[in-house]
Amino acid sequence: MKRKNKIITGMAAAVLALAAGSICAYADGGSGDIDGDGSITATDVVCAAAYVKGIRPLYGQALAAADVNGDGSVNAADVAMLAAHVKGIRSLNGNYSTPDPEPEPQGPVIEVRNGVTYVDGILIANKSYALPSNYGWGLTYSCNNDYGLTNETWNAFCEMQSAAWRDGYSLWVCSGYRSYDYQSSLYWGYVNRDGQWAADTYSARPGHSEHQTGLALDINYAESWFNNTAEAVWIANNCADYGFILRYPAGKEDKTGYKHESWHVRYVGKDLARKVTDSGLCLEEYLGIDSYYH
Ligand SMILES: [Zn+2]
Repeated sequence: MKRKNKIITGMAAAVLALAAGSICAYADGGSGDIDGDGSITATDVVCAAAYVKGIRPLYGQALAAADVNGDGSVNAADVAMLAAHVKGIRSLNGNYSTPDPEPEPQGPVIEVRNGVTYVDGILIANKSYALPSNYGWGLTYSCNNDYGLTNETWNAFCEMQSAAWRDGYSLWVCSGYRSYDYQSSLYWGYVNRDGQWAADTYSARPGHSEHQTGLALDINYAESWFNNTAEAVWIANNCADYGFILRYPAGKEDKTGYKHESWHVRYVGKDLARKVTDSGLCLEEYLGIDSYYH
């Protein structure tokens, strides 16, 4: 009788195994995919949990698939890993063939309107992004200043100039808007004098100059010695309050594509100027873009 019971128990196990087989079909490669349906779902967690509790057997590839951590046995640790995976808490390591994709890093939104590139809504002119050759035409006629700066840029500069004056410093515009053609003559002049490699470190190729935007200006002297003046220090410390950023900071040459220019500021508005300045990043880093001639 006892022997018969054992046989019946054995048969019941075999029947159970067959039944389990229909639910937990063999996993066709891929740990964790116990029922072999191509994905890890709550069903797989149930299969593994049932196995660990001794309720339901697993065989062959289904058993191998259930050994998520690959330690040679299927136990509570594997069930926990599967459950975490299904809940989206973590993805499974190992040989599961279709792991959860890494979340895409949020990149900058780059829009081109009429040939002009805007990154997260900010007009960009650098070595990577050029302006159309006719961009800025008309700016000099419609603006309220002699430098071809947009009115907003000029008004912001005037506010900054007054503040500097109160602090005992004199600021003036040494270069404002520059047309494509004017930039072209400047750039090729530098190339003839210093060679193209050197010229590219301090002068923009036509179409790539921020001066063509009417939003950038050079203050006082566009020469390296200006970096060491009290005026340059004042500009660095205060320009963000008036909506400007130092466009080519020291130590960011490989990001901006230009050597340090303490005199070149770019108007971006007070909110963004504060954020960029406080971040310690140059505009390229802040927006997640590059600056090199492609
Ligand atoms: Zn400049």
